[in-house]
Amino acid sequence: MPALLTTIADLHAWTDEQRSRDETIGFVPTMGALHDGHLSLVRRAGELADATLVSIFVNPLQFGAGEDLGKYPRTLDADLAALDGLADAVFAPSVDEMYPDGPLETRVTAGEVGTWFEGAARPGHFDGVLTVVAKLFNLAQADVAVFGQKDAQQVFLIERMVRDLSIPTRIEVAPTVRGADGLALSSRNRYLSDEQRDLALTLSRAIRAAAEAGSQGAEAAVAAGRAVFDAEPTVELGYFTLVAPNTFREVAPGATGPARAIVAARVGTTRLIDNGLVTLN
Ligand code: AMP
Repeated sequence: MPALLTTIADLHAWTDEQRSRDETIGFVPTMGALHDGHLSLVRRAGELADATLVSIFVNPLQFGAGEDLGKYPRTLDADLAALDGLADAVFAPSVDEMYPDGPLETRVTAGEVGTWFEGAARPGHFDGVLTVVAKLFNLAQADVAVFGQKDAQQVFLIERMVRDLSIPTRIEVAPTVRGADGLALSSRNRYLSDEQRDLALTLSRAIRAAAEAGSQGAEAAVAAGRAVFDAEPTVELGYFTLVAPNTFREVAPGATGPARAIVAARVGTTRLIDNGLVTLN
């Protein structure tokens, strides 16, 4: 079993020990309810560094009013068991341990990109994400941190934060892990009934349809993706569009080269996101 660290003092003792042995640290921040997508990041961290640290913290700052903070799955015992043999330590602090002074006086803000797409649907979400990730980076003192491509806008903003603020942790991005049916693994998938799980496949199907239409240009690719949602009206589309990988701006109609299809949709009360590469020419 990995060592369970619940206080910042425990974490400091652990990082000091790794440093004293000249061991590099690979870090994977999570909110727990771990699935194979998370475990793939932990394996990658293990390949990239000597010691592997996973954080499990359901960060209240990144949840809006009316979101699922209260019911977000918390499965620490199962998470520790899943990490057996994969992670050396798990940092699982309480909210009080992370935010002992209550509401923060100081935060990281995401800028314009953080107000688009997920940021438009979830105001303040990315400020909450960047603030906790910056704090966790300061605590973990990691050489490398691994994030999932599944959360494309999050990865974009974290990479920007690390560059903008000269944070000395290298960011590694790992591919999205999917079920055999194509559904991107997500802790929120456990909210879905069997019937809703079938409907949730609309997201990955739309991305595949856009990828297949990419040779006909951006407008055709977006139209192909949205058409998949038109055929499934019980799935409530948030957005389906193509963005440029280096700016996260929506691509122009005549754009060529690699783009990323990004999608958010609601199945019942569960909001899901996904993304995939689309080559335009
Ligand atoms: P979360 O616990 O959902 O905040 O996610 C923690 C990390 O796991 C983030 O870097 C996510 O992008 C990543 N992640 C979540 N789902 C997947 C997946 N299906 N494949 C790869 N990485 C994932």
